[in-house]
Amino acid sequence: MIPREDVWEILRGYDRQRISLATMCSHSALQIFHGARLEGFRTIGICTQDRVETYSAFPLARPDEFIVVDRFSSILNPGPQDELRSKNAIIIPHGSFVEYVGAGKIINNLRVPMYGNRMSLVWETDRRKQREWLESSKLVVPKEIPSPSKIAGKVFVKFHGARGGKGFLTARSPQEFRRRMKEMLKRGKIQAKDAEDFSIQEFVVGVRYYLHFFLSITEDIGLNVGEGRLELLGIDKRVEPIDESYRGLPDVPSEFFDYTVTGNQPVILRESLLPEVMDMGRRVVEVSRKLFEPGLIGPFCLETIYHPDKGFKVFEVSARIVAGTNLYPLGSPYSCYVFEQPMSTGRRIALDVRKARRMGRLHEIIY
Ligand code: AMP
Repeated sequence: MIPREDVWEILRGYDRQRISLATMCSHSALQIFHGARLEGFRTIGICTQDRVETYSAFPLARPDEFIVVDRFSSILNPGPQDELRSKNAIIIPHGSFVEYVGAGKIINNLRVPMYGNRMSLVWETDRRKQREWLESSKLVVPKEIPSPSKIAGKVFVKFHGARGGKGFLTARSPQEFRRRMKEMLKRGKIQAKDAEDFSIQEFVVGVRYYLHFFLSITEDIGLNVGEGRLELLGIDKRVEPIDESYRGLPDVPSEFFDYTVTGNQPVILRESLLPEVMDMGRRVVEVSRKLFEPGLIGPFCLETIYHPDKGFKVFEVSARIVAGTNLYPLGSPYSCYVFEQPMSTGRRIALDVRKARRMGRLHEIIY
């Protein structure tokens, strides 16, 4: 594991007036580049050749330059890392970055300063750690079913890794579980190794809300959380084929039973639920500080399902920018009550870097 002091040492060698913000051309990159530009930063897109054209097609969100790699995981090769350091780059992590590179490799092999706390990526990608974090934060999480033989009632089966719901399935009995797993394997929806590494949860009923938070140590606005302030920057809901299954009524084609995330929709929450939401965010931050010092930095998301009788259940925490924030490049129905100027999460990150630099606290938001 690369110690934080080593990353700080690299940062000390940077020309602070020439810092550039870099990210992988995927996930929420357009928003990150757009926001960085608005805050006056130079941007670098780490990109495969086949995507350069697409990422060039958005003049206000196109990176100032590309570092072309044969595949995204090659970012860890010495060439791209040298180039990033020579350009005083700070990497902004997002979901695809974590998925393609892997949290383990990020903490062991990435010798480029990264915005946020890399340890939070380890805690978000390890299912057991994530559960420990959420439970210690006194959040209600979906019940785990220890083995397929214990299935009694509708369950939700998930496979390892951030795969945007791909291949997830539901079952009501051990027999149905086995039958559906076989089907998924046969149809190539899951691989043999997935069939060994899954978790079974109660199927949570209710409305989904994906809460976009931002923890800041450089602004004096938002909800007080000890050393920092917590902002709610937006809420979204994912769009998955299952949401449209009613269109196949009365004989719904089986392809509709698919939870793959294909997009996002904006939502706002009944206002009386906001105090509870803010409190959930605060608790997750406080516990993160105990579990992995200095805890969360910048954006994170709680993925929840709310039902009036059952309250909020939190089925996932993402410890970095989430793609649902792409809905709000010019701000959201919540960020407009925090900032006078249009504020996306991408821009918020860049603002944090700019402020921290001015305050001489850049190292505090980097690992
Ligand atoms: P995830 O990859 O964990 O974010 O889950 C992908 C999608 O699966 C979510 O957006 C939800 O629609 C659904 N989902 C996840 N966990 C549950 C659960 N325990 N019960 C019902 N639906 C779930």
